[in-house]
Amino acid sequence: MTFDIKKIRADFPILSREVNKKPLIYLDNGATTQKPQVVIDKIVDIYTNYNSNIHRGVHYLSSYTSEAYENSRKTVQSFINAKYSHEVIFTSGTTGSINTLADSLCQDYIKPDDEVIISELEHHANIVSWQVQFGGKGVKLKVLPINDAGELLIEKLPELISEKTKLISITQVSNTLGTVNPVKEIIKIAHQYNIPVLIDGAQAVQHTKVDVQDLDCDFYVFSGHKIYAPTGIGVLYGKEKWLDKLPPCQGGGDMILSGSVSFEKTLYQRLPFKFEAGTTNYVGAIAMATALEYVQGIGIENIENYEKQLLEYANKKLSSISELIIYGNAKNKACVISFLIDTVHHYDTGMILDKLGIAVRTGTHCTEPLMKRLRIDGTVRASMAFYNTFEEIDVLCSGIERVKTMFF
Ligand code: PLP
Repeated sequence: MTFDIKKIRADFPILSREVNKKPLIYLDNGATTQKPQVVIDKIVDIYTNYNSNIHRGVHYLSSYTSEAYENSRKTVQSFINAKYSHEVIFTSGTTGSINTLADSLCQDYIKPDDEVIISELEHHANIVSWQVQFGGKGVKLKVLPINDAGELLIEKLPELISEKTKLISITQVSNTLGTVNPVKEIIKIAHQYNIPVLIDGAQAVQHTKVDVQDLDCDFYVFSGHKIYAPTGIGVLYGKEKWLDKLPPCQGGGDMILSGSVSFEKTLYQRLPFKFEAGTTNYVGAIAMATALEYVQGIGIENIENYEKQLLEYANKKLSSISELIIYGNAKNKACVISFLIDTVHHYDTGMILDKLGIAVRTGTHCTEPLMKRLRIDGTVRASMAFYNTFEEIDVLCSGIERVKTMFF
């Protein structure tokens, strides 16, 4: 397939708007991605024509929505190549998925003095979710360090593993530096010690082909809104052997075995419903399937190829700007560039770029421990998607030059 960027951009209505009387240049895709018209239409279609709560009614609308919801699960299954569709749990997003899993694992499998290994690159979602466990006492976290380029020092992993290690929980792609971590290698090492691995795919699924069976990860999580789907929907994938034995951590409707509820005791549903208490975001799940089908239609390999070229171009152009410091120079990077202009505060740079219609992220990007490691209090982050163009990178570079003229 030829990559027709004009046609692709036309699929995303927001990309043709202006901000501050300038054409919008949206480079904050790491925070959330824009939505193609098909996804917007799908949400309108469901609410206009089919809306009804799922798994509860015998009437037409409920059957229709329930079937669409379960078909969405199959779409996710195929997108990440899970073995069974019941290994796909719908959640509110990556944060929801990690918390659900942490709550469940810490009921019985992880004990208060056990350890979980994470990395120095982690998003707060994969740090704090463990710290809130055990009534706030938290799970002991051991941290795999990075080198100055922002790459994991994977050779140090065996040193961190002890008989108390119950899980390794690592991001596949750093949201702040763009580092692509060697997760397959990490999983291989972990399994030699019989330790399960959770992969945070929040910044990975939208950029590269994810095959959970090939990775052999035990758990994989991601957010719909970062892959062109609505907010408030996400995925917790887990191998059947794990999800089957883990206890639910939320009780309520739909997760109970029908006929088993009494004031004394209740039995739980089979997978995946055991982990989906109450009314789920079924509209979000159905629209997420539409987003995944849209991505499949373009081809994740085509997206990866295009974004690779875009990153190379952006890296070359930004590196040639004097006074600009790029944070994160890993050999294997996703389409993210974090930078500072000498001593100019990231917030000032972000504000000026905004006046030029350029949306970038500023701050710590929910990675405060990483900021401490880099000895900075934040960066400007340009995170690209397959609808961004080479011309937009040129405009970003002119914007940076403009910032420089205002400060130097
Ligand atoms: N993990 C990573 C690597 C992220 O980049 C993010 C969000 O930026 C999250 C977790 C949390 O995602 P959400 O806010 O969609 O739950």
